[in-house]
Amino acid sequence: MASIAVIGAGLSGLRCATLLQASGHDVQVFERSNQIGGRMQTDAVDGFLLDHGFHVMQTGYPASQRAFNFQTMEAKAFEPGAIVVEQKNNGAKFWTMADPFRRPFQGLLSGLNRFASPFDLLRVARLRFAVRRGKVSRVFTGEHNTALQYLERRGFSPAMIERFFHPLFSGIFLEDDLRTNERMFRFVFRMMSEGQMVLPKHGIAAAPKQLAQRLGQDRIHLNSTVDIRNDTEMLVNGEEHSFDAIVKAFNPAMGEEKRHVWTLHFDAESSPLRTNHILLNAGVKSTEGLIAHLAVPSDVQPSYAPEGRSLITITVVGERADARGLRDASAVEAAVRSELSTWYPEVSKAWRLLAVQHIQHALPEIGKEINLGTTPRSNGFECGDHTVHGSVEGALSSAETTAQRIEAYLRK
Ligand SMILES: Cc1cc2nc3c(=O)[nH]c(=O)nc-3n(C[C@H](O)[C@H](O)[C@H](O)COP(=O)(O)OP(=O)(O)OC[C@H]3O[C@@H](n4cnc5c(N)ncnc54)[C@H](O)[C@@H]3O)c2cc1C
Repeated sequence: MASIAVIGAGLSGLRCATLLQASGHDVQVFERSNQIGGRMQTDAVDGFLLDHGFHVMQTGYPASQRAFNFQTMEAKAFEPGAIVVEQKNNGAKFWTMADPFRRPFQGLLSGLNRFASPFDLLRVARLRFAVRRGKVSRVFTGEHNTALQYLERRGFSPAMIERFFHPLFSGIFLEDDLRTNERMFRFVFRMMSEGQMVLPKHGIAAAPKQLAQRLGQDRIHLNSTVDIRNDTEMLVNGEEHSFDAIVKAFNPAMGEEKRHVWTLHFDAESSPLRTNHILLNAGVKSTEGLIAHLAVPSDVQPSYAPEGRSLITITVVGERADARGLRDASAVEAAVRSELSTWYPEVSKAWRLLAVQHIQHALPEIGKEINLGTTPRSNGFECGDHTVHGSVEGALSSAETTAQRIEAYLRK
């Protein structure tokens, strides 16, 4: 049995710690802040559950399937597909795209004449076939240009890219140019066509909590200021400790990551949506819109809102707000309300603001210059989504590899 310190109680640190503990090691986790979970947090406000940013879990993610018990979390799924809103001269038009990931023909048929050409439909079907072929690792091979270049290479029309791919994927990658590595795009597209997008009953923080529970709260030391001296020695709140191995489960350059997001949560009398889809804004790029997407988590998980109320969660990609010169919460709220009033003129004025969250360093940059793969881009024992890709899956898979590296090192 070896003694191992894990620094950081985000998803990657907790996952790495549970794996090492399950192999029989004595593991201690040291977290700088006063809570576990890192970027996966949920606040309880006036009976609502407010996740930090619109945050979902994908049941298709392989490492997530190994790490989590979705049933114990009482996870419930959004409908596959989306509702799309487009601003026309005579008001906002809404239509449902049944499921472009699983049934591209039926799903996008409703987009025909709006933005999708018959050729686009064929291209979505071919894209789906291409990304689902073979093992998941296959999507991480071949070219690694931007997601936009990939879509253009596959022949999608500008309208299809701007009105469907842009609102959906800018809201996932939290950037405004679709400059994320195309391998990441292929991975997410494949996962969306294979699994479900779910929310745990008690908010997204239930995911790290499940891992922490498995580990045992006594193994986690909050409010720890750590000073790493070398591979085996460190100071914790000024006190010397030594271990057989030390894992860094945080991004040392987190403060430099530029992808940021504004999330607005509203209390509403009822849901503006009739189905459990998310709503995409087709005009977010093409007509200088602001909102990438709108979701009603309480439609999927009623526990997100008190009885008789609905929680509306709106995602504004930080770079889109920057492009519009919106730099503070009140400016973002005013612009969001103005856009909402064109979609829901009757009701949106009555929506009560619960919170405006500005998540400054939300995701790591994963551009085309990175030869994106599934192996962590780190030397030694460092894990975290920044070493693979910015997602729950990136965090978890980096943790699995790091735990394996430690086992191999200890065997030597
Ligand atoms: C708004 C938003 C929405 C998202 N939506 C999704 C989504 O829908 N689907 C998806 O798959 N992913 C999503 N993600 C990404 C996902 O949340 C992250 O990839 C994942 O939580 C990262 O986990 P991590 O352990 O790598 O890092 P973190 O969560 O950042 O954890 C690092 C931990 O280390 C601690 N720490 C840092 N420095 C030190 C130190 N010196 N000493 C001790 N402790 C330290 C931090 O306090 C933190 O607790 C989203 C992220 C955000 C911000």
